[in-house]
Formats: sequence, structure tokens, C-alpha cells
Amino acid sequence: MAVFLFSVDLEEFQAANPARVFRLTPLPELAEIYLAFLRRHKMKATFFVVGEVAKKFPETVRAIAAEGHEIGCHTHRHLPLDEYTPASLRDDLSRNLDALRDAGEVKGFRAPILSLTEKTRWAYEVLAGLGFQYSSSVLPARNPLHGWPGFTNKPRRINGVLELPVTLARFGPLEVPLGAGTYFRCLPFGFIRSRFAAFARRGEPVLGYFHPYDVDTRQERVMNRGVRGNRVLNALLYINRGRTIERLESLTASGFKIMTYAEYVSRV
Ligand SMILES: [Zn+2]
Repeated sequence: MAVFLFSVDLEEFQAANPARVFRLTPLPELAEIYLAFLRRHKMKATFFVVGEVAKKFPETVRAIAAEGHEIGCHTHRHLPLDEYTPASLRDDLSRNLDALRDAGEVKGFRAPILSLTEKTRWAYEVLAGLGFQYSSSVLPARNPLHGWPGFTNKPRRINGVLELPVTLARFGPLEVPLGAGTYFRCLPFGFIRSRFAAFARRGEPVLGYFHPYDVDTRQERVMNRGVRGNRVLNALLYINRGRTIERLESLTASGFKIMTYAEYVSRV
């Protein structure tokens, strides 16, 4: 089966953007764009939710869970893991779990900015101690932010926790996340389709992540004025936001099935 482990990291800001916050579109509206897409296709996905978001928008998190989607943890304060100690991560995740306690059993975790690396692998012990069954927190390549070169695309169990790394594909000299946010919007769609098909032929899922800002076309108009920082990066952050759902629709139309991570984990 062609499986796309599509997921949404439900957070209110944009880590790589100097302005960081949304200016115009409330988070519940952006969440609804993804929910409507999933509803149209009768598919269930996983939403990794920041604890502060769950506290601010409890109805949104309840609505996501009520439609049968899986809720996972994305930390309470959304800091990269190297800014935590084992004790402070345990404390943070306990708050995250507490904020999500009305949303059903939480089995999964995603580290902010995919910051689980060889240096922070102590985090698996913390996750196991809190009862997490899986994590999807590793970018298995060298990366200017965070990355774990050599991990590969294959899931691996560490301290009893199954790590489901983000799927990378080769694009010229680069290894890039295939079904994930900015890359999914910016790379030529022919390339994306052909690589998705190659994974399906091998019976391997494509695992990727999206953010609320990936479908926020109203933010685009405001943020492009006077934004500071790296111009190329800023341009990439806004390209094709209006096409995100169209591209997702095209993949599901070609036979890709989206399922929750918990369902996938129960099958492997
Ligand atoms: Zn995040």
C-alpha cells in the first residue's frame, strides 16, 4: 500500500521566521484547512500539539480529536531539545500531556525543529519513562539546524521507543525531506510525485510534517513587506502556500493513503 504519514505540527509561530508569530490568520482557521482536506478523503492523521497551543485553543484540539485524528506531544514550550535537561524535558512533557489530557491517549512525540540528534538521544529515556510508544523527531542527515547523519529512513527502536525518522530523498547534491512543509511546496511537483511513487513501489511509507503556516496565504501578503533576515529563506517560507492542499489532493488522488502514526506503529 502507498502510505503517506502526513502530520501537522500544531504551533502558532514559525521558528525560522524572524517575526515568529502569525499576524492575521487565527490558528483554528488554519487547522480547519487541514481538517477539511482530511474530511474530504475520510482519512485520519496525526497532529503534534504544543502545550501552550492546547491551552489557548482547547476547542480546536477537542475538534481534531473528535474527528478521529491522533493527538501527539510537541512539547509545552517548543524549545529545541538541546535547551532542555532530562529533568526539564520531563517536566515540560508532563505539562504538555496534562494540557492534552482531554484528547485521548497520547502515544507519540515530535521534537521541536526535529532536534532529536545523537547529542540529545538521552531524550528517549525520558520519553520511555513517560510512556511514549514512538517518536518522530529525527532528520536523518547532516543539517545546518539539527540532524542525525547515518540514522537512515528506517524506523529504529531506542530505549523501547520506536523512532520514525522523517523521509529524505536525494535532490541533486542534497538530501531533502520529501513530504514536508517548505520542501513539499517549493520542489518541482514532478520530482515529488516520482519519489513518492518510488517509495510506494518499495513498500515504504513517506513520513513528513506540515505547519499551520504552510497553508496561510494571508500571512504571505503581510510578511513579505519589510521582513528581515535571509531573503532566500524568507522567499522559500512563502512560496506556493496556496498550492499545499492542491498538491496533497493530487497525491491522495494517485492512491496514497494517509493514516495516523499510531495505526502505522500498530502494524509494524
Ligand atoms: Zn514545531
